[in-house]
Amino acid sequence: MIREELLAITNNNIEEASLDALYQAVLSVTQKRIENMEHVHGDRTVYYMSAEFLIGKLLSNNMMNLGIYHEIAQTLKEHGRDISEVEGYDPEPSLGNGGLGRLAACFLDSIATLGINGEGLGLVYHFGLFKQVFENHMQVETKDVWLDKPSWLRKTDTVYSFKLSDVNVTSRMHEIDVLGYRGKKTTLRLFDLDSIDETLVTQGIDFDQSKVDSNLTLFLYPDDSTEQGLRLRFAQQYFMTMSNVSYIFDKHHDDIDHLYQSVVVQINDTHPAMSILLVIQRLMKHGKSFDEACSDVQKMFAYTNHTILAEALEKWPLSYFEAMDHELVVIIKKLQKKVDAVSKDPAVAILDKDKRVHMASLSIHFSYSTNGVASLHTDILVNSELKAFADLYPDRFNNKTNGITFRRWLQFSNPELTQYLIDKIGDGFLSEATQLRAFEAFKDDARVQEDVLRIKQERKDDLVSYIKKTEGIDVNPTSVFDIQIKRLHEYKRQQLNLLYIIHMMHEIREGHLPKRPVTFFFGSKAAPAYTIAKDIIHALLTLSSIIEKDPVVSQYLQIVFVENYNVSKAEHLIPAGDISEQISLASKEASGTGNMKLMLNGALTLGTLDGANVEIADLVGPENVFIFGKHSDTVIDLYATSGYNARHYYETNDNIKRAIDTLVSEEMLKEGTHENLSRLHHELISKDWFMTLLDFDDYVETKNRMLDAYEDRLHWAKMMIVNISNAGYFSSDRTIAQYADEIWKVNHE
Ligand SMILES: *Cc1c(COP(=O)(O)O)cnc(C)c1O
Repeated sequence: MIREELLAITNNNIEEASLDALYQAVLSVTQKRIENMEHVHGDRTVYYMSAEFLIGKLLSNNMMNLGIYHEIAQTLKEHGRDISEVEGYDPEPSLGNGGLGRLAACFLDSIATLGINGEGLGLVYHFGLFKQVFENHMQVETKDVWLDKPSWLRKTDTVYSFKLSDVNVTSRMHEIDVLGYRGKKTTLRLFDLDSIDETLVTQGIDFDQSKVDSNLTLFLYPDDSTEQGLRLRFAQQYFMTMSNVSYIFDKHHDDIDHLYQSVVVQINDTHPAMSILLVIQRLMKHGKSFDEACSDVQKMFAYTNHTILAEALEKWPLSYFEAMDHELVVIIKKLQKKVDAVSKDPAVAILDKDKRVHMASLSIHFSYSTNGVASLHTDILVNSELKAFADLYPDRFNNKTNGITFRRWLQFSNPELTQYLIDKIGDGFLSEATQLRAFEAFKDDARVQEDVLRIKQERKDDLVSYIKKTEGIDVNPTSVFDIQIKRLHEYKRQQLNLLYIIHMMHEIREGHLPKRPVTFFFGSKAAPAYTIAKDIIHALLTLSSIIEKDPVVSQYLQIVFVENYNVSKAEHLIPAGDISEQISLASKEASGTGNMKLMLNGALTLGTLDGANVEIADLVGPENVFIFGKHSDTVIDLYATSGYNARHYYETNDNIKRAIDTLVSEEMLKEGTHENLSRLHHELISKDWFMTLLDFDDYVETKNRMLDAYEDRLHWAKMMIVNISNAGYFSSDRTIAQYADEIWKVNHE
């Protein structure tokens, strides 16, 4: 069938079809099968509302989930074409930023797989976050064009019209099918401004910020370092939630009285929190009293918190609401009255004395569930960050440790390992991930240890050729692959890794040679207005080229900073990792999911006791993980007492001083830019808000111990086996089953 269809669409000429024509043929064959798939039904519909869905390329995954991948690959091969051409041509939707968006994507996959009646709701972004390119060792932002060829995004006839302040706009629904494992699908519904004007983007990611009715869905997270940018972001959230709420009311129009019975809305962080206000507004228009409307939303909404970074908790000036829709201001003030009746503590106020609206407060008071995303994170929320709320509503707080979909991060990204696991323990783990445990029985089997090392080497070889092809860089496949891939942020401490590499460079120059070369991979975008994050990128790129030019150091050490880190790059990097760098300052990383992906693929974790690292360490035991650094309670205490002094470390620790001063050495300044390097140098000595230097010695010692351990190859393999075997807990199927049972109260398979 497939063979005939492909031949028919390409006029019997697969051999000479243009890549575009071939891609369209494969796309249409695949889409036709998806159309015929059944949607899940159920009494209560779950709406997963999120500003981001970092779904990754869809074609290969969908073909695999449909079970037609091999037949299509075979057909193309018979006609002299390679399926990887077509896979490479498939655009990666640019709809997210980092872990929060990737989580939403994994969740949709699991919602479909578990047969839950649920959908994703969000926005289309024409040029995504931005596309990162490197010029003169600097990050430069350009637009990420992904909608220029036929894609998985399907335009619908469903439109909603409403006012943004005094401008009339039309919001149009688009759909993307998301397939689960074995024949089920769900839908991601994304709204777009009908009057969007792509030509507004002039240079890089610059555009006329004043024309809200034509710029609103150009980029995810417009630069919010200016007042105009902030207002735009606010308008974007309003547009998203207004569209999503309009859709929900439209779909359930004959059941508005009992909406809380048929609908549950999970908001992914506070970006969609305005929907709480909008639902209250609608219910009142429908004839409900204010009290009734409040009681209804309170039964409908559940909130996921993703951060304890105070600066990341959203607060909007009341005046923005006033400018958007006066009715919302009335609602906010009445909600604050309700809160006053429960508690006068300013820590739990929605509206503060500076007339700012705290979106997290709104979300906690007027939902029935607030969850953290890893057990340590939830503990910190309950015992310190959100303690005032947890004391008021102890029953609302709960933990849902994040997860990842094994379909993408094991089956698809690492078919060799998947097949090997099937040979050893059967394929039950594909539906029930904890069955991976059975693999632990082989941890002392030397044959299996060797096989695991061989598979890892195959994946490293694959990464080497991928890096050669995409970045034009040669990498030594026998070096240790040390991987830190995640958004660039000081709390994630890429700068700690940077200081380690500088330290290692000096040690090599002094004749202390490592037993084996190490390649340090980075993949990371910095927010366009985040100056220090961009300085860290600059320092790493500059150092990379200094090392490359040093005839001795370059034999032992290499930095590969992949450009424009995204899901497709992650799919190549993760199976190849030996060392998984999870080195955030303890208490700051809510969960992390990159740590889970790398563990599942047999990388060993080098990490602090932060986020889900704590659970990883519990599962594999202290002998199979490399933990360093100060504990979260110590760190929290240091913040409370202003007890951390970076300069003290700089002045009393010779290794630290040497590494930091290298940033502004003659060698670095000749290759790099004075402004960026000296700013970073100054920041590390005089501020260092995320306490890089606190853990420096322990990090160096632990990483060196890890590199030594790597030399006992069979023992290392044993640790890999223990890590792979215990990764089952981190399947997003487990996470979503818990959301379904404990929050949403819906059935699942
Ligand atoms: C998993 C993933 C992330 C999240 O990584 P963390 O290490 O958990 O911050 C970010 N971006 C992409 C592309 C991912 O696949």
